[in-house]
Amino acid sequence: MGFDGSGKIWMNGRLVDWNDATIHVGAHVLHYGTSVFEGIRMYHRDQTDGQSVVFRLREHIVRLYNSAKIYRMTPDEMLLGGRVDEADRRLSYSVDDLVQACIDTVQANGDPAAYIRPVIFRGYHSLGVDPRPCPVDVVIMTWRWGKYLGPEALEKGVDVCVSTWSRIAPNTMPALAKCGANYMNSQLIKMEALKSGYSEGIALDTGGYVSEGSGENLFVVFHNRGQDGRHVIFTPPLGNSVLPGITRDTILHIAADLGFEIGEHMIPREMLYTADEVFFTGTASEVTPIRSVDQIRVGSGHRGPVAAALQERFFGLIDGTAPDKHGWLTPVTFS
Ligand code: PMP
Repeated sequence: MGFDGSGKIWMNGRLVDWNDATIHVGAHVLHYGTSVFEGIRMYHRDQTDGQSVVFRLREHIVRLYNSAKIYRMTPDEMLLGGRVDEADRRLSYSVDDLVQACIDTVQANGDPAAYIRPVIFRGYHSLGVDPRPCPVDVVIMTWRWGKYLGPEALEKGVDVCVSTWSRIAPNTMPALAKCGANYMNSQLIKMEALKSGYSEGIALDTGGYVSEGSGENLFVVFHNRGQDGRHVIFTPPLGNSVLPGITRDTILHIAADLGFEIGEHMIPREMLYTADEVFFTGTASEVTPIRSVDQIRVGSGHRGPVAAALQERFFGLIDGTAPDKHGWLTPVTFS
């Protein structure tokens, strides 16, 4: 669905009209992919108290800041001895500033449920490969947002394939940074999967181990294999070229709260076929069961009990029926 062209966009500290939020074609980001960004979700509790809540806003902004830090865009960049290098241009907003700016933007736009997209990028100055003379610009867009993989997907599960494309290799493009350029790799994975009739592709890392989907982290479940017959859940460690997903972290906490055995573990491809359950996590996909991989049925071929229990706690937390004991929700009021 395209944009409707209305509302405000936060640009370097000002809320401007949607159609005026433009940048020059000479901006560094357009030529070299010099951007880091976030995808954040504000839910509307239309089934409970009517409140709008942003999910783990601060953690998303901390990840955004760290992505910018990896690419030397923040004031942490310095010369030996701790001196500031005057030749470099940096981000002039703190984590607190950016948290507030996200809230200001959703409030200005008034959608009770929204997707929030902050982007930090190197703007217009010159087009050398060295980005440092270019300004570090910030924009925040928000728009009304529904389900990503489709409402049915949460219940029935999706059909996916293992991609012929590998995830970005360590020491090439840093996977821990949510950088715009990384999504060229994601686009290849996604297009290949869709063209072949699947909903999504799973990429292996360059060592051949399971990494993640084009825009989701991945978990595998083995029933009754843990201590005292508990269900065991694994997700690849950050060293397997995965994004440190906020939903991934959420599931690591929730699963432990629910008494499952959960941990980071390297996952060989064939485990995708032999697991009792496989599911994706992400801001957009939430907790989405996978019912087949490469046309091999996973477990019983529909949502399993572990994915169902995790979804129930996850959505309970969001709609306020389960306690927000980790302090993950930021309420937003509209005047
Ligand atoms: N991996 C990739 C490549 C992603 O783009 C995303 C979506 N941001 C995720 C994992 C899931 O991360 P999160 O739970 O923070 O949305």
